[in-house]
Amino acid sequence: MDHFKVLIIGGAITGLTLAHCLEQAGIDYVLFEKHHDISANIGGAIGLQPNGCRILDQLGVWDRLKQFRNDIGDTVTHLPDGFISIYPSSWYQAMLGYPVTMINRTNLLGVLHTSLKYQDRIKVGAKAIAIRPSSTSNGRLSVLTEDGQHYHGDVVVGADGVHGITRAAMWQMADLEKRGVITDQERNSMTIDYACIIGITEPAAAVTQIMKPERLYGCDHPHAFWLVSPNTDHTIIWVVVTKLDKTYIHPVVPQWSKEETMARLDLLADYQLFRTIKFRDLWERTPSISSVPISPTYTETTTSLTESAQVMQSKLANLCAASYRTTRVHALETFTAWLLARYVMRIISKPVCFLNIKTMAAAVTLEYLPLPDRVIRASARRARAWRKWKTILRISCIVLVGIIGGGCLSFLW
Ligand SMILES: Cc1cc2nc3c(=O)[nH]c(=O)nc-3n(C[C@H](O)[C@H](O)[C@H](O)COP(=O)(O)OP(=O)(O)OC[C@H]3O[C@@H](n4cnc5c(N)ncnc54)[C@H](O)[C@@H]3O)c2cc1C
Repeated sequence: MDHFKVLIIGGAITGLTLAHCLEQAGIDYVLFEKHHDISANIGGAIGLQPNGCRILDQLGVWDRLKQFRNDIGDTVTHLPDGFISIYPSSWYQAMLGYPVTMINRTNLLGVLHTSLKYQDRIKVGAKAIAIRPSSTSNGRLSVLTEDGQHYHGDVVVGADGVHGITRAAMWQMADLEKRGVITDQERNSMTIDYACIIGITEPAAAVTQIMKPERLYGCDHPHAFWLVSPNTDHTIIWVVVTKLDKTYIHPVVPQWSKEETMARLDLLADYQLFRTIKFRDLWERTPSISSVPISPTYTETTTSLTESAQVMQSKLANLCAASYRTTRVHALETFTAWLLARYVMRIISKPVCFLNIKTMAAAVTLEYLPLPDRVIRASARRARAWRKWKTILRISCIVLVGIIGGGCLSFLW
């Protein structure tokens, strides 16, 4: 497509993935990232779900991630009373062709960045400071960067995270068109209840003997829970999610100094993570940590949107609500949450896995790119598995009806 240009603000997972999508579609773009080194960006491990891996495969990125991935075979949950439950995740690989995998955020960003074809379209150290309607004929919008450069394009995509400038700029433009169209409810729709502290540890041998790669450990405690991902290179990435003192409304975000973060971690040091391992065993050997406020709540808004945007908004709202509920269950916020984590999850884990596979199989793919062979093979395996389960179900029903019918007949006789 000639002369059509997309301006992407933000060079992390969303922005770089979009850049790949545009390159594959032959659409011109410029990407702005405020940091000078994209892959030196901070963070811990990112969990990729099979449907996300499928998109990366379509984009030709998946195989390049192989050496950095920690594919999850089992998810292990540990509760404060010592209860341990193991949920196998290997079904995902078999049924969808891709695993649930953990990958160091910097490695993921590095591969996404370096595998782009047009490196000159990536502007690093370029902080976008304003988005305006363009006064030239080079496109409908312009992005102004901190160094005074103007870039013109037809579409601006905000991939600048929850604290980025794009949302504010959209609100400002919408307000100019029709005053009050963005309601106070929408402006205050993002709330923050939890903070997430992330670290990468080189643990003692005693820890690596107990916590194994290919397992993702979830350790639930009241108002705090951990995700611990041991890597094949003997490092361990840990994430602790803790409840904040109150609900904050974006953009008021609690910022902790290094000392405050350390003090919070110190309070959590004696929490048991798994068997004999305490959190102290990990964080005392962690050279650097980062903390990010997380905002799982998002209230559905009533602003008039196009039909497709409404569908997307509704999906996002459902996703945020589900993520908020999951966070509350893992942080054992209520007695019901504890019951769910302790008893119910164990019973429903297989049907949930089944439903997840169904949802992920039907999730979005890039329609303009061919599906990789492993998707086609997995789809055939799924069809065979469904047929097998249907046959088992039918035979079980016939046997059950036979037993009940036989019982009734012998009773009547
Ligand atoms: C520092 C950090 C660490 C994280 N660590 C983890 C983790 O360990 N595990 C996990 O599961 N999730 C983590 N997340 C969250 C996760 O990365 C995001 O939720 C998710 O991947 C969404 O990615 P994104 O690309 O949309 O936005 P983000 O990851 O938030 O990235 C936004 C990008 O936009 C850039 N940017 C912002 N404003 C401007 C601007 N004005 N001009 C130019 N560039 C701009 C930022 O520098 C950043 O690179 C982290 C997020 C951040 C910001």
